[in-house]
Amino acid sequence: MKWMFVHAHYDDFEFTAGGTFELRRRAGGAERLVVICTDGASGHHFRSREETASVRLAEQQTSAQIGGYRFEPLRLPDGRIPREARWEQEPDLLPALWKAIRDFEPDYLFCPPLPGSALAGIHVDHVTIAEAVRRVAYLINVPHVYLPEYPECAGDERPRKTPVILQVADSYVEEEQEYDLLVDVEPVFDAVARMSWSHQSQIREWLPWVGRHRIEPAATLDEWKVQLRERYRFRNRKLGLDTERPTEPFVVTAWGEIPSLEQLRRDIPGLTLDLNRQARLADKLARWSEDRM
Ligand SMILES: [Zn+2]
Repeated sequence: MKWMFVHAHYDDFEFTAGGTFELRRRAGGAERLVVICTDGASGHHFRSREETASVRLAEQQTSAQIGGYRFEPLRLPDGRIPREARWEQEPDLLPALWKAIRDFEPDYLFCPPLPGSALAGIHVDHVTIAEAVRRVAYLINVPHVYLPEYPECAGDERPRKTPVILQVADSYVEEEQEYDLLVDVEPVFDAVARMSWSHQSQIREWLPWVGRHRIEPAATLDEWKVQLRERYRFRNRKLGLDTERPTEPFVVTAWGEIPSLEQLRRDIPGLTLDLNRQARLADKLARWSEDRM
């Protein structure tokens, strides 16, 4: 089994799916790859762009060591890592995602969500990556579509399975957020705290300065754990959840393969869903499967 996480920035993984990936690691048997699609140069106030980019890359590598997952920055066909907030200048984003997904051949792909309402605020990079995953999903099994960008792939017509595509939560999207799947990550909370603590230039410098994230500079890992728990609590309340335990919500899309409920329950450890929600999800998946016939 292979799990792939695709998102915009260094640190997006830890705040949205790090716990679920850690649970999967402990359950065994899954190769896990995290692909981050921007160079991380912009998000700082006193470090230069060059310094920020290299610090952020190193922080993600530290997190990857703690979490035991493979990490790769997304590379455009010319080898560059895309800049943030300059997507109109990057027509090769889709080819690059196509290549990364075909190379890894994931069973599950986790990505940011698209907001449902035009009134919702957004982070431009999150929405760009969400939209790009949606657009590229059908093309994953179209072997010749990006041969002009990747001539070395000529002759590779082996069919590629389209993965199940799940959306993670997004704290930038200020609208009511729904979920289909809920994972209780309390058993791995300490690991998530240590992975996110790797992002020192974010959680102790940039995020407190930019002031959108209810984060104060923590002096110690224990202080950070208190703030991290509060972030989970805040998200739980927004989701209408009456629990103090840290959770990660996901939404099942019809962008990729349509899974069955049994498959999701088998493959994703730590699922905690009430019967009503399970029935609603099962209905949705059955309807989508019929539409594909
Ligand atoms: Zn982000």
